[in-house]
Amino acid sequence: MSNVHELNYLKDQVQELKDQGVYRVLPVLEGANEAEIILNGQSVINLSSNNYLGFASHPRLKEAAIKAVEKYGVGSGAVRTIIGNMDIHEELEVKLAAFKREEAVMVFQSGFNCNAGAIQAITNKGDLIISDELNHASIIDGVRLSRADKAVFKHSDMEDLVRVLEEKRSNYTNCLIITDGVFSMDGDLAKLPEMVEIAEKYNCMTYVDDAHGSGVLGENGRGTVDHFGLHGRIDFTIGTLSKAIGVIGGYVAGNKVMKEWLLHRGRPLLFSTSLPPAAVGAIMEAVDLLSSTTEYTDRLWSNAKFFKAELGKLGYNIGNSETPITPVIIGDEAKTVAFSKRMLEKGVFVSAIIFPTVPKGKGRVRCMVTAGHTEEQLSRAVKVFEEVGKEMGIL
Ligand SMILES: *Cc1c(COP(=O)(O)O)cnc(C)c1O
Repeated sequence: MSNVHELNYLKDQVQELKDQGVYRVLPVLEGANEAEIILNGQSVINLSSNNYLGFASHPRLKEAAIKAVEKYGVGSGAVRTIIGNMDIHEELEVKLAAFKREEAVMVFQSGFNCNAGAIQAITNKGDLIISDELNHASIIDGVRLSRADKAVFKHSDMEDLVRVLEEKRSNYTNCLIITDGVFSMDGDLAKLPEMVEIAEKYNCMTYVDDAHGSGVLGENGRGTVDHFGLHGRIDFTIGTLSKAIGVIGGYVAGNKVMKEWLLHRGRPLLFSTSLPPAAVGAIMEAVDLLSSTTEYTDRLWSNAKFFKAELGKLGYNIGNSETPITPVIIGDEAKTVAFSKRMLEKGVFVSAIIFPTVPKGKGRVRCMVTAGHTEEQLSRAVKVFEEVGKEMGIL
């Protein structure tokens, strides 16, 4: 009999990944996550980070982080509900609430933690959660942790949402409709104005995870809710501090009662240590910077427009993105991985995204244009797309 500790059942599954050509090795970055990076000793153009505004290594953020370390140290020392809540955590929440034009904000250690903590805290047995089928994995996990019943509607299909509500709403106490603000794999926006109307008609609460909208859409990057002018009509807005903001963390924005309740029942807040001072200092600087200028968001959008137009001219299928997220859809999983490998050999890092992150047969490389790219870098990347596309018979 084989020794169970050899984990042969996992070895078999790993071998299967290798057979399917989808086994991964982590890329190792030697230095900051910028527009051009050193990867395995080679300088390459980076088209895969969520560092939309180039804030991850911005001098002002670095300086703010160092200042915070000097005053507060490197760790917060405890969970917030015990003694890990510093004045800078409080200050950050006030600043974020003002920026988001909401009554209150509760900060968590990541966007993932917001979904893992908030959804289960605000729903109960006898409630119904209705979720878009393409919602982010952290929403799916967050929903699983809730005692509420669950239903899914077809991606951005408001008729299907109404169908679910007609069928089920009357059997439940509260109903929560959850959607991504920006869908991370395709870059399309949720149909928030219609969704809000429907939610109001059926007396449902709304929950928008705006991880890819924060710092990208709306006035000075205030997000998708601001973009659609829906302040006060979305009950819970989740933002991440790990993407455009360039640091780490997440927050739930909404009204004061939301905050009071999450302070008592938001489990990642109660059982996991709060954000370190360096992160808090850097985030506050990022919010100040974003509030004071549209320079970064403007450059992000003009770079994205330029890059999309160039890829479109080549004849690639770049989907229906409405944001800087630019999928280049290849299809077959193994071919997508091979495409990404060949791009890297030629100096462009663009990661392959395949099943189960996207549906089978919808493999793509996902290009993330940032404010940090120069037009020269983007043009160079487009040239490589052309060469590899022709070489592999895609163009
Ligand atoms: C990235 C992402 C998250 C996770 O945010 P982190 O701060 O990286 O944990 C949550 N939701 C969505 C929609 C995301 O795209």
